[in-house]
Amino acid sequence: MSIQVLIPTPLRPYTDKRDTIEVEGQTVGEVLQNLSKKYAQIHQHLYAENGNLRSYVNVYVNDEDIRYLAKDRTPVSEKDTISIIPSIAGGAPSDRSGSGRDGEVEVATAEIENEVILSRDELLRYSRHLIIPEVGISGQKKLKAGKVLMIGAGGLGSPLGMYLAAAGVGKIGIVDFDVVDTTNLQRQVMHSTEDVGRPKLDSARETLKGINPNVEIETYETRLTSENALSLFADYDVIVDGTDNFPTRYLVNDACVLLGKPNVYGSILRFDGQISVFDAKRGPCYRCLYPTPPPPGLVPSCAEGGVLGVLPGIVGTLQALEVIKLLLGEGDPLIGRLVLFDALKFKFRELKLRKNPECPICGPNPTIHELIDYEQFCGITPPQPIEQVDDRTEISVEDLKARLDRGDDVFVLDVREPQEYEIVNLGAPLIPLSELPKRYQELDQSKEIVVHCKMGGRSARAAAFLRQHGFKNVKNLVGGIDAWAERIDPTMARY
Ligand SMILES: [Zn+2]
Repeated sequence: MSIQVLIPTPLRPYTDKRDTIEVEGQTVGEVLQNLSKKYAQIHQHLYAENGNLRSYVNVYVNDEDIRYLAKDRTPVSEKDTISIIPSIAGGAPSDRSGSGRDGEVEVATAEIENEVILSRDELLRYSRHLIIPEVGISGQKKLKAGKVLMIGAGGLGSPLGMYLAAAGVGKIGIVDFDVVDTTNLQRQVMHSTEDVGRPKLDSARETLKGINPNVEIETYETRLTSENALSLFADYDVIVDGTDNFPTRYLVNDACVLLGKPNVYGSILRFDGQISVFDAKRGPCYRCLYPTPPPPGLVPSCAEGGVLGVLPGIVGTLQALEVIKLLLGEGDPLIGRLVLFDALKFKFRELKLRKNPECPICGPNPTIHELIDYEQFCGITPPQPIEQVDDRTEISVEDLKARLDRGDDVFVLDVREPQEYEIVNLGAPLIPLSELPKRYQELDQSKEIVVHCKMGGRSARAAAFLRQHGFKNVKNLVGGIDAWAERIDPTMARY
């Protein structure tokens, strides 16, 4: 009996780029084992050395997590679909919600009714809200009383901030420390061409104030850290996670759980989006879904993997929708549900999320009581300063240039993707990192090999892989082709 298995984007390099595969099997375990037989490389991404499914990979039969069914013994039949859902990184006064109001909540709502005043200008501005019964004057006052903190002013933060400002959310806080870069403009519509080189916070403030001068904008030019997260979050009703990396996602989650605040989650990669609302008081948290992060480098970032520009527009707008519903206390928030959006197929799928009774932070017996070191938790070692090149395993662009000019016999290997190669290359042969396990035998072990990618991350993994497979003289080009374009040949295209 063959079962349909849906393969997520980060794992498609290991399935010959196929997104749906028919695999035989009577149980989830059998199907996944047979999948691993068909595509040997996928095995290590699904299973740990002890033979258990990896904890950053969730497996669903239809919309149910197999952890809450019979795990890998869950039986499957022909009409079932198995989905593999890995974590991807790459953007309210919760008690006020609808039913089950208690006295305290009534007081809060009554206070807003009495204390918040809408001016004539605001009544006109929000008229299309005011005539919806679910919003009305009292809802608009709730929005005006609402305080929302956005983590990140990038692709997800752009539509999010713009729609929250337009909707009349009273106070919007933004945490970011980046400057606007030309490569941001393809999706970060809050910033314009003339903002390139300016802090994103300055440009965001101007855009949001331009949309709605009634909104208070508070900016925090800092990296979100374990030291500042709790105090930054304290003053806000809803936190919106629009970040692009795993350490910050776990940090945002933990700080929200500790403070009892809802976390409106969105993440994107290429054509895939994920959206949910994590509110540990009413449902699961991010750690219930993904107890541990994937190892560094397994899931590409948007800088490495790319993202279709309109996708953060869609996901960030859906996050704005959930924020507004939370502030209004209307509708069914996306608590306990994960929505997956596949833009290429135009498919929305909804999966049930459950609170994990063993969750280390929101479960009944938590082991995490304060914020931790999230870089360490995610296995990330701080990047080495460029001047600290380790001569045994690394080479700088200047040294490589000098050696090539001298006519040294150095074999340069490019491990990026073909579409990156087409943008710019050094004329070196190309074997993408994902194909290296199948193709490394094409390389001459006796030669000195210098491996490069865009920035040096993927090539470091490629160099380590080659060393493990008997190559004695392999070096990683520190900073990649981007450093080459910056410091050796400024006429080269950068991306
Ligand atoms: Zn949890």
